[in-house]
Amino acid sequence: MFDTLSDRLTTVLKNLRGKGRLSDADIDATCREIRIALLEADVALPVVRQFIAQVKERAKGAEVSEALNPAQQVVKIVNEELIGILGGETRRLNLAKTPPTVIMLAGLQGAGKTTLAGKLAKHLAGQGHTPMLVACDLQRPNAVNQLQVVGQRAGVAVFAPEPGNGVGDPVEVARRAIEEARRAQHDLVLVDTAGRLGVDEELMRQAADIRDAVQPDEILFVVDAMIGQDAVTTAEAFRDGVGFTGVVLTKLDGDARGGAALSVRHVTGQPILFASNGEKLEDFDVFHPDRMASRILG
Ligand code: GDP
Repeated sequence: MFDTLSDRLTTVLKNLRGKGRLSDADIDATCREIRIALLEADVALPVVRQFIAQVKERAKGAEVSEALNPAQQVVKIVNEELIGILGGETRRLNLAKTPPTVIMLAGLQGAGKTTLAGKLAKHLAGQGHTPMLVACDLQRPNAVNQLQVVGQRAGVAVFAPEPGNGVGDPVEVARRAIEEARRAQHDLVLVDTAGRLGVDEELMRQAADIRDAVQPDEILFVVDAMIGQDAVTTAEAFRDGVGFTGVVLTKLDGDARGGAALSVRHVTGQPILFASNGEKLEDFDVFHPDRMASRILG
């Protein structure tokens, strides 16, 4: 991820080195190159436009600095603007004042929700929480079983539908799971919901019904970074259909160009909280915009 973008940005910025003073024409030329690099990385056009406008304005108005030469100043501005489009500060999970904290996962089938449920549960258990996973994906035949396996690997409890647990009705399963979490004193509940291959109304309605039944403290939209620009369209559909409070990017280990990662925050207005970068439980990280920006700038 980001390899090509990273290479291109490094080259563009390297070309500025050694220049004593940057003319407006130098800055315009650099911004043109950055714009091409971002578009080739599949970053959404409105994001590219705003990014370039900001960099240009700041670079042209940059104060003469004693500490930084002109090239370093441009690198600093690009870095700060990258951090900005990635969300600025690291955003922590919202925890409920009165447990259990309810976190609902939504997204397309194959986005990596079930895998993420295990990763997040393990991560949170490591911080002293006592999470319970809830299997509300009753569409995909093997999904409940998959969540049970993931839960076992992560060493956390799984609430799955069985006689008396609202078999067949995800809303009822979710409701009962919250009751069970209170009874068994789990301070955190992670609700895995059904995804479809494409966005559809029934999926949205079901997710919205689960949301209304359990009133989550966080709704995390899980999105495969490999789908590029489609991530933006999917995010918009989920924002309008269900609403979400945060984003999780998955498959950052793939060779995608990075456009989704760079666009989704700006386009949806919601922060990226976590990143998933592999199939194993430990391939998971809290998302830090500043670290990601440093990675992009190489
Ligand atoms: P769900 O349908 O949204 O629940 O998606 P799954 O959790 O079942 O994941 C779909 C596929 O993507 C599985 O084969 C996972 O092993 C794989 N997967 C999930 N997260 C990642 C990731 O971060 N990197 C890679 N390479 N594969 C992932």
